[in-house]
Amino acid sequence: MLILVINAGSSSLKFQLLDSENGDVKAKGLCERIGIDGSMTYQGSGDKVRSQKDMPTHREAIKYVLEELTSEKHGVIASMSEIGAVGHRVVHGGEQFAQSALITPEVKDAIRDCIPLAPLHNPANIMGIEACEEVMSNTPMVAVFDTAFHQTMPARAYMYALPYEYYKDYAVRRYGFHGTSHRFVSLEAAKFLGKPVEELKIVSCHLGNGSSITAIDGGKSIDTSMGMTPLAGVPMGTRCGDIDPAIIKYLLETDPELTIRKLDHVMNKQSGVLGVSGVSSDFRDLTEAYEQGNKRAELALDMFSYNVRKYIGAYATAMAGIDVIIFTAGVGENDSKVRHHVCKGLGYLGITIDPEQNSKRGELVEITTPDSKVKVLVVPTNEELMIAKEAAMVL
Ligand code: ADP
Repeated sequence: MLILVINAGSSSLKFQLLDSENGDVKAKGLCERIGIDGSMTYQGSGDKVRSQKDMPTHREAIKYVLEELTSEKHGVIASMSEIGAVGHRVVHGGEQFAQSALITPEVKDAIRDCIPLAPLHNPANIMGIEACEEVMSNTPMVAVFDTAFHQTMPARAYMYALPYEYYKDYAVRRYGFHGTSHRFVSLEAAKFLGKPVEELKIVSCHLGNGSSITAIDGGKSIDTSMGMTPLAGVPMGTRCGDIDPAIIKYLLETDPELTIRKLDHVMNKQSGVLGVSGVSSDFRDLTEAYEQGNKRAELALDMFSYNVRKYIGAYATAMAGIDVIIFTAGVGENDSKVRHHVCKGLGYLGITIDPEQNSKRGELVEITTPDSKVKVLVVPTNEELMIAKEAAMVL
């Protein structure tokens, strides 16, 4: 079935038209600067094309996407009726959604109810859904949630040790993110190893601009490093990850320039490996700076690998063992040095990395030696394909 996958941000809209059975991508692209002026990058049957388009709202963006998909010049389908469904990435499904859902007015209300938990993302996701509903009213829509996969976590993993009322009254708990990616790579890993996912204890390391580590026991997420928001866990490109919560009060009282809003911005946008190194949030820049002798870039890389390694150890304990470690996303798939440093010293868990295998990038590959007790795999993630598969399954 052909599925149009939509990932709507506040001023952008990423799209991909793909076959949910074989993953064949017919067309993909990005609309940007929605509400400002509007531009579109589109790759269909020919070369990539970039055009300026007037896009006051997401509705016009979707309209242009459909025009391109069916256009004579760059089109890949004869008519909109070939699209079986639209799969929408929705960031936060709170506790309401443990699975993907066919979009109905009630489902939209529930997504709106989760806006306080993801104030930047869920409103944009709703805009994307409503824009599609207006332009393609006869096509079924499915919401696929970043948080849904983690709804299997037991209370001991998702509760914070705050007064219980904060959980009951304000929904304060760990939700976890990147669920679509963690689920996809765990299924791919099981397929690659020829074993049912139900029989595997997997630690999945999604390392990109945002990073999260998940313990997947028998195909179910039992713990994950991100928390109520995607700020928690390991240090990331620009996010601080786990810090002592008392630092916030201390800084607010110590620095007269700081406000809670500024500090929130600092922790989300100016921290992580960027904040520590002062160089960049991009691991390619950090490695280059480190090779030129930059000590703070070295420290940032060291902190990153150390923290990922700590989570692997913690999750090996949480699952009472470990069969597979997966590296995925921009850094996990491409950066062999990070993989090497993360796995350094994990010999006690039964991990022996094969340096030659580890030098490969961007493909599904086993990077441990054949006698390694724990398998370490690089698995390219494909959230769009997972969303397409989910949409087809829900239908
Ligand atoms: P996002 O979280 O935005 O989806 P990605 O998963 O695309 O992020 O990862 C982006 C990051 O991947 C970049 O910031 C960069 O640090 C890293 N990256 C991409 N390619 C390479 C590479 N060849 N070597 C090292 N790091 C890379």
